[in-house]
Amino acid sequence: MAEHIDPLDELRAGLGELDASGLRRRRRIVTTPCQPDTRLADRAGPIVAFCSNDYLGLAAEPAIAEAVRRGSLRWGSGSGASHLVSGHYAVHEALEQRLATFTGMDAALYFSTGYMANIGVMPALVGRGDAIFADKVNHASLVDGALLSRAEFIRYPHCDLAALEGRLAASRAPRKLIVTDGVFSMDGDIAPLPQLLALAEAHQAWLLVDDAHGFGVLGPQGRGCLAHFGLASPRLIYMGTLGKAAGLSGAFVAGQRDVIDWLLNKARSYIFTTGAPPMLADGLLTALDLIEQGDERRAHLNALIARFRAGLGLRRWQLLPSETPIQPVVIGDNHAALAVSQALDAEGLWVPAIRPPTVPKGSARLRIVLSAAHSIEQVDRLVDTLQRLEAAQA
Ligand SMILES: *Cc1c(COP(=O)(O)O)cnc(C)c1O
Repeated sequence: MAEHIDPLDELRAGLGELDASGLRRRRRIVTTPCQPDTRLADRAGPIVAFCSNDYLGLAAEPAIAEAVRRGSLRWGSGSGASHLVSGHYAVHEALEQRLATFTGMDAALYFSTGYMANIGVMPALVGRGDAIFADKVNHASLVDGALLSRAEFIRYPHCDLAALEGRLAASRAPRKLIVTDGVFSMDGDIAPLPQLLALAEAHQAWLLVDDAHGFGVLGPQGRGCLAHFGLASPRLIYMGTLGKAAGLSGAFVAGQRDVIDWLLNKARSYIFTTGAPPMLADGLLTALDLIEQGDERRAHLNALIARFRAGLGLRRWQLLPSETPIQPVVIGDNHAALAVSQALDAEGLWVPAIRPPTVPKGSARLRIVLSAAHSIEQVDRLVDTLQRLEAAQA
C-alpha cells in the first residue's frame, strides 16, 4: 500500500520549497488608486510603480469612474444572470457594437475577463483530433485554453516561423488553430502577424491573436496589433482585454459575425457565468472614447519608451528588444532578480521580479512597464537607479 501522506503537511513542505528557491509569491497591499505615485501598506513613504499594465493611465481616470457611477444609477449593481438567460443589457450590446466598429471587425463578444475569453474560445473552435499551434511563450491562459480543448497541443519556438510552417505541413488534423500573443507579455516584442496570417491562410487554419498588451496602445487610435500591421482576413480572430490599457476590466473577442455567433453558442466560459455588471460596460464605452482620442497619451508613452531605451546602457543585465511599454531587463538567477527588485524598492521604485514558471528557467527578470501616466523625471530616476545597481552588483 502507498505510504499515507498528510495533505496539509505536503502543502507546507511545498511552500517551504518555494521559499527556498526564491519562488514564493506574495501580494502587496496597495492603498492608493492605480497610478505611478503609489503607497503600500507594508512600506513607509511613496513608491513609483513601474508594474501595472495601465499603459495609458486610464485605470484611475475620473471620467471612467464617473461613467461607472452613472451606470450604477441606471442599472443597479448586478446583471442577475448569464448573458444568454437575462443578463445581457442594452449597454452590453452597445459596447459590443462599439468594440466591433473600433477594431474593424463584423462583430464582438464581451467576456468577463481575458482569461475566460481564452479558455472559452479555443475549445469552441477545436477539439479532440484537431491541432493547436502555439508560440512557446504564449500567455498561460492560452495554454490552459489549449489543454481544455483536448486538441493536440503543438508548441513552436518563440516566433519561429519556419518551425511553425514545418509543423503545420506535417499535421493531418482536420481543424487547425494557430494562437499567439500579439505583444508577448513577458518579453514585450510584437508577434510577426503578417507572416503568421500568411501561414494560417496557406494551411486553412484559424489565427487567434491575444492582444491584451497591444489593444489601446498599438495601431492608429490604439486599435491594436492587427491595425498596426493593417491586417484583415476571415481567418483572424482577435481577442483584446479591457483591464490593461482600457483601465477597467473584461475582454472581448472580435471576428466574423458567424464566428461570434458560434462562440456565443459554444464558449462555456461565456455561457455558464453571470454577465459582468452593466455599469462596467458604461465605463468601458467612455474608456474606448479616451483610447480613440488618446494620441497624446500614446505619443508621451512612446517618448518615454524611447528615452528609457536610449538612456539605459547595461553591461551584464540584458534589456530585451521591445518597442512596446513592456521593457524587460533579464537578470537570470531568481535570487539575484529578487535582490535587485528589493534594492529598487529601497530606492522608492516598484519593479517586480518575474520568475519561473511565468518565464523560462534561468531568465528571471525585472518586468518594467511604462505608462503614459509616468513623467520624464520618473523614468530618468529609474534609468539612473538601474545603472547604479548594476554597477554595484559586482
Ligand atoms: C492579462 C492577459 C490575459 C488575461 O486577461 P485578464 O482580463 O486579465 O483575465 C490574457 N492574455 C494575455 C496575453 C494577458 O497578458
